[in-house]
Amino acid sequence: MTLMLDMYIDGTRVPSRSGERFDVVNPATGQVYASVPKGGVEDVDLAVAAARRALEGEWRRVAAPDRAAMLGRLARLLESRIDEFAAAETAHNGKTLFDADFDMHGTVACFDYYAGAATKYLGSTIPGPADYLLYTRREPVGVCGLIVPWNFPLAIAAWKIAPALAAGCTVIVKPASETPVTALMLADLVEEAGFPAGVFNVVSGPGSVAGNHLVVHPGVDKISVTGETTTGQTIMRTAADTLKRITLELGGKSPNLVFADADITQAVDGSLFLIYANSGQVCDARSRIFVQDAAYDEFVARFVEQAKKIHVGDPTDPDNHYGAITSSRQLEKIEYYVEIGQKEGATLACGGARVGEGPGLFYAPTAFTGVDNSMRIAREEIFGPVACIGRFSDYDDGITKANDTPFGLAATVWTADLTTGHRAAHDIRAGGVWINTSEFLFNESPFGGMKASGFGRELSMHGMDAYTELKTVGVSLGAHMPTFPLD
Ligand code: NDP
Repeated sequence: MTLMLDMYIDGTRVPSRSGERFDVVNPATGQVYASVPKGGVEDVDLAVAAARRALEGEWRRVAAPDRAAMLGRLARLLESRIDEFAAAETAHNGKTLFDADFDMHGTVACFDYYAGAATKYLGSTIPGPADYLLYTRREPVGVCGLIVPWNFPLAIAAWKIAPALAAGCTVIVKPASETPVTALMLADLVEEAGFPAGVFNVVSGPGSVAGNHLVVHPGVDKISVTGETTTGQTIMRTAADTLKRITLELGGKSPNLVFADADITQAVDGSLFLIYANSGQVCDARSRIFVQDAAYDEFVARFVEQAKKIHVGDPTDPDNHYGAITSSRQLEKIEYYVEIGQKEGATLACGGARVGEGPGLFYAPTAFTGVDNSMRIAREEIFGPVACIGRFSDYDDGITKANDTPFGLAATVWTADLTTGHRAAHDIRAGGVWINTSEFLFNESPFGGMKASGFGRELSMHGMDAYTELKTVGVSLGAHMPTFPLD
């Protein structure tokens, strides 16, 4: 049976003004899973008006400890319904139930983190002239348009929703059209947690219409988007007219450097996870693997042997390591790049084909070896389970290759020598560098990119910066006041 959901505007469930809806397909089965409203310009107008009323009305008077309590309640409500949300996440995205459950626990923790942050995000007093009080206040930036991608639908939405609400903003969430279900479901929990009407709104609909209207709308103060670099470029241009504050979390082609002194077993295990988890549909997937010459053959042999053992298929089967590609558009993009890689002369060492005969969108763990960093498969984001493995000679060559990319989201370094690891952390131009680990995301640490991977940081206390304006207040305590020397 198709799940029917409506949007959430001004504390009420509503269809789109046009009455139009669109289907959400389960990529693992090819079946229609849900039907949601196709929101457009009028729906965004209503949501922005509601968010502005709330911002300038009741919500403005809700104190930080009360916002914290609401976020804490939201975390508990989500925690109590984790199985339901994880199942929905799997049904519209295609990720395994294991991954969806992991993401939902991370989402609960994200709401908890910002429940705590709401009361600990401080201004400062500034040591200025004598007899003068100087201090800063952190004030909510205002109405925020939160535009979300399909690869971690609710988790990435929460990275934006939680700090925005903690800071005292009001929000309009625009989920990706492939995966709007969990953001729409969340509205029930937000209401039960006690957030006043208009503080939290969700408008499902096409990015080119609903998303674009949020970006041009003069009633929206801030846009935070996670998406492709080209989407970020369009939004940055469109947002210029109203001088919106923007946070751009964009694409990546992140390097994974394996030095010859590394524990190769550990490096292979970690590298497999870093490219194939979530079927490679991860913005900071370590899709460019560079192995130092002396370890290259051993690494490649083991990597390919292990990659072939990865189980792909039905995301509800706990035996499978990753599930479906989220859309046929994305699967075709992966196939397009695998063809290009072969034409460019890289060696297809494993994978390179769909898995299964049915309607499910499954793609085998794929590895190219002998990849030259100038090839398109090494320069353009594929966003799928495709590892591109090349080599480097010495430290400088490795760093040069790691940095030879338009992107700068993340990097991983495998080495037994921590001096090498820390040097690389200094020398690689990326928003984050991890050493000898495949675990890299924490609510407590900032996440975001350099170069074409965008700017601004999410998560951590830095994530609050994106949703506040810094105000300076100066008060004379009897200090001499500069003035014109008039009679
Ligand atoms: P898209 O850029 O296609 O879409 C992202 C969101 O933007 C969707 O909600 C989309 O709506 C909306 N959108 C599209 N065009 C516009 C527009 N002109 N104005 C306003 N909104 C618009 O990205 P994907 O959903 O395909 O997500 C995958 C991409 O996201 C990858 O490139 C990946 O690297 C990146 N990503 C980056 C992360 C980071 O932190 N840096 C994290 C996760 C993903 P609709 O769906 O309706 O088209």
